[in-house]
Amino acid sequence: MLNNSFQDPGLSHKILNQISEYKKELRIMEVCGSHTMAIGKWALRKLLPPNIQLISGPGCPVCVTPVSYIDALISLKSLTITVFGDLLRLPGSLTTLETARAQGLDVRLVFSPLDALKIAQKQETVFAGIGFETTTPGIAHTIRLAQENNITNFSVLPAFKLIPPALKYLLLADDVEIDAFLLPGHVSAIIGSNAYSFLPAQFDTSGVISGFEPLDILLAIKMIIDILESGKNAIENEYQRVVSPSGNLQAQNIMNQVLYPRDACWRGLGIIPASGLAIKPEFSRFDATQKYDLDISYYEPPSPCRCADILKGKILPPQCPLFADSCSPAHPIGPCMVSSEGSCAAYYKYER
Ligand code: SF4
Repeated sequence: MLNNSFQDPGLSHKILNQISEYKKELRIMEVCGSHTMAIGKWALRKLLPPNIQLISGPGCPVCVTPVSYIDALISLKSLTITVFGDLLRLPGSLTTLETARAQGLDVRLVFSPLDALKIAQKQETVFAGIGFETTTPGIAHTIRLAQENNITNFSVLPAFKLIPPALKYLLLADDVEIDAFLLPGHVSAIIGSNAYSFLPAQFDTSGVISGFEPLDILLAIKMIIDILESGKNAIENEYQRVVSPSGNLQAQNIMNQVLYPRDACWRGLGIIPASGLAIKPEFSRFDATQKYDLDISYYEPPSPCRCADILKGKILPPQCPLFADSCSPAHPIGPCMVSSEGSCAAYYKYER
């Protein structure tokens, strides 16, 4: 039952009717796992006319965390490893953290890097630092706290990812077709709408930053259509109640103090230039890659999983032959089914 002003059925119908007047083929990529889940939950894909396709991009942090990263965590046998829940079942080259835990590895689920810092006051602890610009400021803040309080038992294995370089990668790829982006609300709250100005300026591509209620998403799609019909590419902001042009400067400052940009491995995509963040030398004693001499290089073991094609919007989850057959949330084969924000998990839950 729709129950608040962001879920008003009358207004939804009105916007859907306006969207239906657009008759050209339109492929809109959402680059946020929370959008993928909201689109599935509210059956928005089914409500749209068939000429408007919503395709999911690489916006689920667990889905793009490389195989070598899981292998590196599993190699830390005598330490306490702290992770967010979804990471537990993500496959490494041989096994998962969940299986390694059953075999004796000390892996603990935490809700915040601060929980990991508390554990580190008693024992040597590594926190799995994965996430986009939304999660990263909190982890950078925790590293700074560890420095200020001289908690030397604490370190972070960084796999921080940045959204704008991933958008550039997709637009430069020969085999990816995108007409416009539904831009991520949470990430944009940190980096601001100005961070996407390169899309129209360098790639003749438009995008609209959207919130997560069904009306937000429908309105953002209508705004994309209006931009395309105006004939002039642009970035617009449907989520103005949260996202400003310059973003959250305090969060950006914390990230800039502790981290710096570097090339990063994206599972299924490869190495994307300047698409990650590393820990600065002045905080190196909290960098698990240096503390334990870990190597996070790009490596993809052979697998029938089609997540790489799904992350580029080349196929939809039901087009993978394993979808809802040998691959399901109870028995996931690839990362897009492991994560609660993965495309395959969203299709399995809402769109079978
Ligand atoms: S259904 Fe499973 S095997 Fe197929 S792409 Fe998705 S996660 Fe990979």
